[in-house]
Amino acid sequence: MQKGRQQKEGAMQSIPLNALATPKGHRYLCDICGGISTVMCPLCRSSYCCQEHYELDVLAVHPSICDTLAELRKISASPPHSEKDRETQDAYRRNLRESIMTVAERAALEHLDGGKERASTAMVAALRCLRFAAVSFPDEPLASVRPLFLLSEAALQANDFTSVHKYVLSARRLLQVERERVGDFLVGIVHDIPRTRDLAELWADLHLLLGRAAHVQGKASLDSINKDFSLAAYYSSLSQGVESLQYGHCLYWTGMLYADMGDTETARRYFGQVVSVWAKNCWFLIDNPSMQSDPLLYHDNVVPTLVQWYGEHLPSHMDHQRIRFVSSCVFAILGRFDEAIQVIGQVGVALADREAALQAAGPGSAMSDTDPEELRVLTARMDMLREMINNAN
Ligand SMILES: [Zn+2]
Ligand SMILES: [Zn+2]
Repeated sequence: MQKGRQQKEGAMQSIPLNALATPKGHRYLCDICGGISTVMCPLCRSSYCCQEHYELDVLAVHPSICDTLAELRKISASPPHSEKDRETQDAYRRNLRESIMTVAERAALEHLDGGKERASTAMVAALRCLRFAAVSFPDEPLASVRPLFLLSEAALQANDFTSVHKYVLSARRLLQVERERVGDFLVGIVHDIPRTRDLAELWADLHLLLGRAAHVQGKASLDSINKDFSLAAYYSSLSQGVESLQYGHCLYWTGMLYADMGDTETARRYFGQVVSVWAKNCWFLIDNPSMQSDPLLYHDNVVPTLVQWYGEHLPSHMDHQRIRFVSSCVFAILGRFDEAIQVIGQVGVALADREAALQAAGPGSAMSDTDPEELRVLTARMDMLREMINNAN
């Protein structure tokens, strides 16, 4: 469905290109593959070696960055009149560049969400992002790290482990230099050394990727994969705290490791923590509706995967109700109100059953995973969510 929409938008946005004569083409490299360019977008002057690479870029990201790229060219073509002018221009240029990076990264993430069949489009968006970072931020090697991670993700989705390692190792080299400068993350964060927190976050992502790649490839030992996941959890707890979605992610992948081995009990222990991290983030959003939600809420298969896992393995567990509640919040955030209301209804029934069971068991008897107070709070938040959806509709 989403793919169809993307392609249609892409087709609508594709425009006739300017041809480049070969000597002129030598000055421009293809934004997709780095080859010699033969055609150029007349609006933003992105250049391509062939029509196909342009079409790929249209599917991947071009229509959403063409305007901003054109604006960037326009200000570069008009020299500043004064020092103050230059400063304003530099700040504006930086803004535009950062916004292009953000849009391209988001596009790559969206393609990654589309699964295996969109891995190649994700790769194009990420490549575009990487080339743009190298040209626009030549003095900031760390700007290339996220695009490299996105490329690794795309390669991982395509089961292309050689490329995964190539990209992860490039990212590691860039991070290593910065890491030597910072020294101990913990000390750096305590002393508030600038960018230490960001670096720790990237370092966490690096270990998460290494662990996941090893897990999917199925060649590394449990100990070594676990070590990567634990390091990832440690660094993300330093950078984002233990209530962050990034931290939850590390626990999620550890849980998946055990779930895949059929060790449901260990998996459940990790997943339980993930559910509580996600629930806290969603509750916070409901209590503070004007708050910005974490982008991970949008780009994530953690929630649907956990809903499915609990449904299959522990359908009556309280964590199943918690994660379904989270999924109704995510649906609401995404504007998929019908689905949100449907899930709220299902959780409502399950909670009412539980309430009745608690009543029947009488005071003093404990149902191991149910806290009556939490039951009450969860029901109240569900009502709030339903009301928010009704108001938004
Ligand atoms: Zn090309
Ligand atoms: Zn363009």
